[in-house]
Amino acid sequence: MSEKQVLPRVEHGQRPVLSFNERQFGKPGRHLADLSREERRVAVQELGYPAFRADQLSRHYFEHLTVDPDQMSDLPAAQRGALASNMLPTLLTQEKAQLADKGATLKVLWKLFDGAVIESVLMAYPDRTTLCISSQAGCGMACPFCATGQGGLMRNLTAAEIVEQVRLNMGLAHEGAVTVAAKSDPRSVTNIVFMGMGEPLANYKAMAEAIRRIASPAPEGFGISARNITVSTVGIVPGIHKLAELGLPLTLAVSLHAPDDDLRDDLIPVNTRYKVGELLDAARHYFVRTGRRVSIEYALIKDMNDQAWRAKLLADELNTRGRGWVHVNPIPLNPTPGSIWTASTKRAQQLFVDTLREADIPTTIRDTRGADIDGACGQLAATEIDPEHIAARAAKAQQAVARRVADSDQQAKLK
Ligand code: SF4
Repeated sequence: MSEKQVLPRVEHGQRPVLSFNERQFGKPGRHLADLSREERRVAVQELGYPAFRADQLSRHYFEHLTVDPDQMSDLPAAQRGALASNMLPTLLTQEKAQLADKGATLKVLWKLFDGAVIESVLMAYPDRTTLCISSQAGCGMACPFCATGQGGLMRNLTAAEIVEQVRLNMGLAHEGAVTVAAKSDPRSVTNIVFMGMGEPLANYKAMAEAIRRIASPAPEGFGISARNITVSTVGIVPGIHKLAELGLPLTLAVSLHAPDDDLRDDLIPVNTRYKVGELLDAARHYFVRTGRRVSIEYALIKDMNDQAWRAKLLADELNTRGRGWVHVNPIPLNPTPGSIWTASTKRAQQLFVDTLREADIPTTIRDTRGADIDGACGQLAATEIDPEHIAARAAKAQQAVARRVADSDQQAKLK
């Protein structure tokens, strides 16, 4: 294997600067999904309606996945419109959808109320359906391999804007937007990963609030198991410590990509603030506090970070902090001819994995589906769906929601 050292650099234009400050400050109006169950009851009372209407509205949102007042037949007709417009303002509009992986992956571009755009990716697997969501519009972490990072941070998303990505994608999944030849039903979203646009721990408060909504059972939230929610970070150490105290068994994924500060300072600019040692200490602390094994994501980039000595160094850094607390996921990039950000050779990949395994580090090569890795921002090879197809799918989704509401009304009457 070549011992050539390729160094990270931005391939087009100037390198953006690490930034935690929002460039755009507008925030959408208050939404039901920003509020706890109790806060919703207060908000509904302030509008002049009985508190229990908050739970009814929440069930429509989190169970039936609808914001359409016409579907809310258990609410008095005279109150539906006002309740929906005050508590359920439109937050996201679908701009574009792209299918990939023979229909098993759907990437959607959403426009926010102020024109900012974000992405989500829905991925069907034989045993689960995973949704990758964004936590910020843009990103201030400036990773040189990432298209999002080159544009800088626009603004943080609100909790409701994060939650709304989940609701809308659950609707798409219910409608059969993604398909996979499998035993399980791809129509229900089982896993959530914060690996889309943005660094979730740089928008901690809204992310944590959104996680509460996603994990709590209805009418508080969607009831997706916290064990199936993954928060991925490039290394905001104070955020990892806060997450450890959240009291939920979330999975923490650390996008490490290099075990040495020399390379990581350039590859992941936030490393200039929080060094590899400090980051791995925080990851280990997360395991100790939560009992959840930490995932280390490692994109294998040809001649940059894929040398066997780096695999050995990585194994040493992990083993020195204990056994059984961590799992490494090397991620082969897609080949990009002529780019410095290209796939390692098969031989280098194998040597890297073998070195980790020989050091007793559990290691699984991950696929590069959709935005399953941070570095996949902008890499999805997709087939665009025409707008009519999307409109037809949206109409079918509405019909499916109406059917589910009618079924649940029927069941309520039978009780
Ligand atoms: S890779 Fe992730 S953290 Fe880095 S700039 Fe891109 S979105 Fe931000």
